[in-house]
Amino acid sequence: MENKASARRFEGKVAIVTASTQGIGFAIAERLALEGASVVISSRKQENVDEAVEKLKSKGIQALGVVCHVSNAQQRKNLINKTIEQYGKLDVFVSNAAVNPFKIPLLQTEESVLDKLWETNVKSSVLLLQDAAPYLQKGSSVLFISSLAGFQPLPTMAMYGVTKTALLGLTKALAAEMAPNVRVNCVAPSFIPTRFASHVTADEAAKKAYEELTLLKRLGTVDEIAAAAAFLASDDASYITGETLIIAGGTSSRL
Ligand code: NAP
Repeated sequence: MENKASARRFEGKVAIVTASTQGIGFAIAERLALEGASVVISSRKQENVDEAVEKLKSKGIQALGVVCHVSNAQQRKNLINKTIEQYGKLDVFVSNAAVNPFKIPLLQTEESVLDKLWETNVKSSVLLLQDAAPYLQKGSSVLFISSLAGFQPLPTMAMYGVTKTALLGLTKALAAEMAPNVRVNCVAPSFIPTRFASHVTADEAAKKAYEELTLLKRLGTVDEIAAAAAFLASDDASYITGETLIIAGGTSSRL
């Protein structure tokens, strides 16, 4: 599925997507922009930010690019400040950054790695929202990117799964705290071919095994995640808050 936007649900709206220079974050930013949003692209590396902004420009989309390592307090504040300077408001905040150390059993994971997982995947989302919240208003919406692994941690990346479980709780807690003006939701994708998942998707046998776990017999695409994200962030989901939408082609998950 290609990023297809027939609606204009974000006309006049301003959206920040963290970790958005490629993969799922980029696809979400592109989708929101195609539907009319002014989008802010960010990630750790200036060259990646510049490249992503150029890529959008080549598709006729103007975007603001700001470097933001989500674990850096100064850069988090700068991301929000630059957005407000440029656009004067903020309507949609998508918290997408995560790290994913692979094949380290939980009981052998060093404390520094546990700290990094917690800091990048969970804590930075809370701190970013502390900075963003003063600018969110009635009708604004927040979206977290969890994972199917948040429901069932995989043995090869168990602690990553645990941090994604934490985002399910964070979604509920912040939805209550930010109600009634701001909605807070979450999406939980299964494996999607991106750089992040390349350790699985580059291995044909592993890829096939994950395809077989789905009812649709294929892996999803970044644009399919973006389409669901755009729905939850839009007024079409105006009576949905505190929810997580699993996007996994029917892979067994929960009732
Ligand atoms: P990806 O294609 O590898 O892209 C990762 C993006 O994050 C890049 O733009 C990268 O740019 C940026 N980034 C990495 N660390 C960052 C940090 N500390 N601060 C700011 N930006 C950072 O990854 P993806 O697959 O799209 O994953 C995005 C999200 O989807 C993650 O939360 C992941 O857990 C979730 N997810 C992915 C899958 C999957 O199978 N792909 C499944 C379920 C959930 P720089 O290198 O320039 O920083």
